[in-house]
Amino acid sequence: MTQKFSDCARCPFAIAERLCRTPNGKAPAFCPTRDLSQLTQASLKIYKQDKYAEFARQASIQEAEGYADKDLGYARVRPAKTRIEEIAEFANKMNFRRLGLAFCVGLRREAKIVADIYSDKGFEVVSVICKTGCSDKNLIGLNDTQKIVPNEPEAMCNPAVQALVLNEAKTDFNILLGLCVGHDSIFLQEADAPCTVLAVKDRVLGHNPLAAVYNIDSYYRSLK
Ligand code: SF4
Repeated sequence: MTQKFSDCARCPFAIAERLCRTPNGKAPAFCPTRDLSQLTQASLKIYKQDKYAEFARQASIQEAEGYADKDLGYARVRPAKTRIEEIAEFANKMNFRRLGLAFCVGLRREAKIVADIYSDKGFEVVSVICKTGCSDKNLIGLNDTQKIVPNEPEAMCNPAVQALVLNEAKTDFNILLGLCVGHDSIFLQEADAPCTVLAVKDRVLGHNPLAAVYNIDSYYRSLK
C-alpha cells in the first residue's frame, strides 16, 4: 500500500469493477482488500466465535430479505422493508424477546410510538430515557455557563445509566433512538447486549443527517 491508511470512501472505480466486489477487480493505492488480506482472514475467524456466528449469518439473511423482485436481477431489485421492521424481523430470527430502548428526551414521543410498535409485535420492551437519575451536569465537570440554560439546574444526559438499567434488565438486544453524539458512544461501550441504531440525533434535520449530504451542492454547500 503506497498510502498509509485505507480510504475506500474515495475509491475511484465503479462499484462493479472494484476488487472488493469482483475477483481480479481493480484496486487503487490504498486498497485494504489487496493490501490487508491478513485482516480479512482474521475477520473470518471472528465470525466463527459463538457470539457472532449466528448473529452474522442472520444479519446477512435479513439484509437479503430487505429486497423485493430479486428474480429480476441486481439492477432491478427494490427496497422492501423499513428499519423498524428489519429490527423486529432480525430480533425474531435471533430469538431475542426482551428489547432495550435507549432514547433521548427530545424523542420521547417517538419512543412511545416505537415501544408500542415492538410491544404489539410481541416483544417485551424495556425503555430508558437519557435523563434517568436527574443528575446535574455540574457532576461531570460542566460549569453553569456551559448548560443549555445557563445558571439553572440541568439534568445531564446519562448514557451510562441507560446502559446499566438495560444491563440489569438483561435485555437481549438494545435499540438506540436519538442519543446525542458522544452519549451514544458511551452507551455502546457500556451496554452488555448487542445494540443497533434505529435513529441518530440531528436537531436541525429531523434526525436525518444525510439530508445535508443530499443537498451538498445546494443549501448545504457551506459544508464543503
Ligand atoms: S476495498 Fe479496494 S477496491 Fe474496494 S472500495 Fe476499498 S479501495 Fe476500492
